[in-house]
Amino acid sequence: MSNKTLIIGAGGVGNVVAFKCAMNADTFGEITLASRTKSKCDAIAENVKAKTGVTINTAQVDADSVEELVTLIRETEADIVINVALPYQDLTIMDACAACQVDYLDTANYEHPDEAKFEYKEQWARDQLFREQHIMGLLGSGFDPGVTNVFVAYAQKHYFDEIHTIDILDCNAGDHGYPFATNFNPEINLREVSAKGRYWENGEWIETEPMEIKQVWDYPEVGPKDSYLLYHEEMESLVKNIPHLKRIRFFMTFGESYLTHMKVLENVGMLGIEPVEHQGQKIIPIEFLKTLLPDPASLGPRTKGKTNIGVFVKGIKNGEPKTVYIYQVSDHEKCYEEVMSQAVSYTTGVPAMIGAKLMLEKRWYEEGVHNMEEFDPDPFMEELNIQGLPWKVMELDADATLEVKEN
Ligand code: NDP
Repeated sequence: MSNKTLIIGAGGVGNVVAFKCAMNADTFGEITLASRTKSKCDAIAENVKAKTGVTINTAQVDADSVEELVTLIRETEADIVINVALPYQDLTIMDACAACQVDYLDTANYEHPDEAKFEYKEQWARDQLFREQHIMGLLGSGFDPGVTNVFVAYAQKHYFDEIHTIDILDCNAGDHGYPFATNFNPEINLREVSAKGRYWENGEWIETEPMEIKQVWDYPEVGPKDSYLLYHEEMESLVKNIPHLKRIRFFMTFGESYLTHMKVLENVGMLGIEPVEHQGQKIIPIEFLKTLLPDPASLGPRTKGKTNIGVFVKGIKNGEPKTVYIYQVSDHEKCYEEVMSQAVSYTTGVPAMIGAKLMLEKRWYEEGVHNMEEFDPDPFMEELNIQGLPWKVMELDADATLEVKEN
């Protein structure tokens, strides 16, 4: 019997997921793309048809409404829901999946619209409900979180008896030619990078000021880049699931121009998430800013350069200290050529499709709510090579570092 797949969200990532599911139509069967604005789904469906020959259905849905979601899931008879709307919709979509007994997957953890804070607590709290309904929820199946968790699981399985430190490195060396734009949803992106930093060491979380810790890392195939310590959600589950861990940090690259723009916008209050009164109307500054900034989906045809995202891991194998860097390099222009999206959307959408494929094929399947590193990494790693995200492993001297020490 053929599968039925429902994708929710028609932004940059939704576009890639729609293309990639269509390119794997044997697994995904009848595909429906639904979002708040149906015209965006129709435009994607038209491009998918033109490039792959596969027809996908489209629908309108308000994913903040469990009732609307339940109606849509029942109408489409979906076997799986791939949530690539915004993190604000995670809980409503999970609840609708539970009500319909349908499997669920997302790429970003729940965030409350009124509080710039994200954590797994409320999604993990649905584990029991998912078990009772005999369904699976796979959380964070993008690149980071997502592939980074799988890279750590792969390092654990093949290279280490004990992992002691992990540095997750996210480098985007792409240039879109705008003075300022974000590569994915501006609201989510700016909330993430303007928040306080946090890392985990010897059993406790250590908080830093936003952008307080800067290091220069030398990214293979890209070169040295300024990288800033941020809090990132995969650390929360990895701390729980990787034994012997002593420290985990996350670094992301930012250029001077991006940081200067962000600082100015923050100083004038444009990153605020509280409503302000403007000429008799209430507006939320960061939402208004989103209206002004280029749509991330429009960056695709203009972005040149590469991304390098990986995990730099140290630990012990057979009593000897060891270091590996497992990473993936994508080229913005090549991604656009294939699916009409730049590499940030591509590197998120492809792993979302792979996670869903492994679930539908029951190669990754366990009732309840799960994070990526809980599963055997090998099938996922094989699919990455097949589906457009080939990766590499650098085995380094025990005391090696990719960090460039500044004088
Ligand atoms: P976009 O803003 O481009 O797209 C979001 C889509 O969701 C839009 O089509 C939007 O509709 C739709 N949407 C928003 N609210 C609703 C709603 N209430 N009901 C129905 N549809 C809604 O975001 P991206 O495509 O860049 O990102 C998608 C997701 O991927 C986000 O959750 C993001 O955090 C995550 N992500 C994960 C990464 C990872 O590596 N794990 C990296 C990058 C992103 P409309 O068009 O009408 O606004």
